[in-house]
Amino acid sequence: MRIAFLGLGIMGGPMAGHLQRAGHDVTVFNRTAAKAEAWVAEYGGRAAATPREAAAGCDVVCACVGADHDVREVTIGPDGAFHGMKPGAIFVDHTTASAAVARELHADAKARGLHFIDAPVSGGQAGAQKGQLSVMCGGDAEPFATVEPVLQAYGRMVARIGDSGAGQLCKMVNQLCIAGLVQGLAEALHFAQRADLDVPAVISVISKGAAQSWQMENRWQTMVDGKFDFGFAVDWMRKDLGIVMDEARRNGARLPVAALVDQFYAQVQARGGNRWDTSSLIALLDDK
Ligand code: NAP
Repeated sequence: MRIAFLGLGIMGGPMAGHLQRAGHDVTVFNRTAAKAEAWVAEYGGRAAATPREAAAGCDVVCACVGADHDVREVTIGPDGAFHGMKPGAIFVDHTTASAAVARELHADAKARGLHFIDAPVSGGQAGAQKGQLSVMCGGDAEPFATVEPVLQAYGRMVARIGDSGAGQLCKMVNQLCIAGLVQGLAEALHFAQRADLDVPAVISVISKGAAQSWQMENRWQTMVDGKFDFGFAVDWMRKDLGIVMDEARRNGARLPVAALVDQFYAQVQARGGNRWDTSSLIALLDDK
């Protein structure tokens, strides 16, 4: 297929690479052009100067940018992809954004004879590099069926959850599961240290029981070591929790722990940890 990929960041770069390696004809766009040139040097394919130019003639246009306003910019902005896409083409948005912007752009796409699928991902940088992401989709069944095999180039699990916006709502559920768990893990590790326990010995036992989690498996050691300069940034998590809280105000969900953890992340930001990994919550507990 002819595919465009917009946004070659930590996630988008390797995801676009998997599409090229799967044999698709890929054109990339990145706002900072040097990243697109580096991508072409590594993977082949072509770079375009604007989303509109990248999207021209493509069957599928994927994006992984920052937040709602960035998704609007690369779709309906002056040089947005929607202006260049051919009738019937499918836009797949991997950005973590609001369900509202997904529904807005789904309707806008439909009016132009295009399709829009919201398809946020989970699995982090390592998942993107290994092609082992979970891709949670919202949108119409027919275009989803067309893009499903394409997304399997980087998705270990690709699923349509429901209509437009359902993919983003599923990602909100994902982030809620993580936020409270990371604080619990931080408190547990903090307690184990204060109790003078042999922390590796504790983890070796409890990670085989009901306390086991991805965060425990992948983050306990770096949390104990106080290393946070990698992974999923606190700034991104606060953006995501902001989206969740907006949605909860609409649907009436009560999220006391998520609201509290969001405030803890604000404290991490105040300490300069904007780009630290989300596991950095433990740094607040050792504040004397
Ligand atoms: P990133 O490394 O900061 O990359 C963001 C990309 O979006 C860059 O290519 C950036 O271009 C581009 N971009 C941002 N705003 C733009 C705009 N207005 N117009 C055009 N391009 C724009 O971020 P990331 O970690 O890949 O995350 C991307 C998305 O995936 C976010 O929504 C994030 O929440 C989500 N996500 C991230 C992870 C993770 O572990 N990192 C996991 C799951 C989901 P420039 O190069 O010019 O800045």
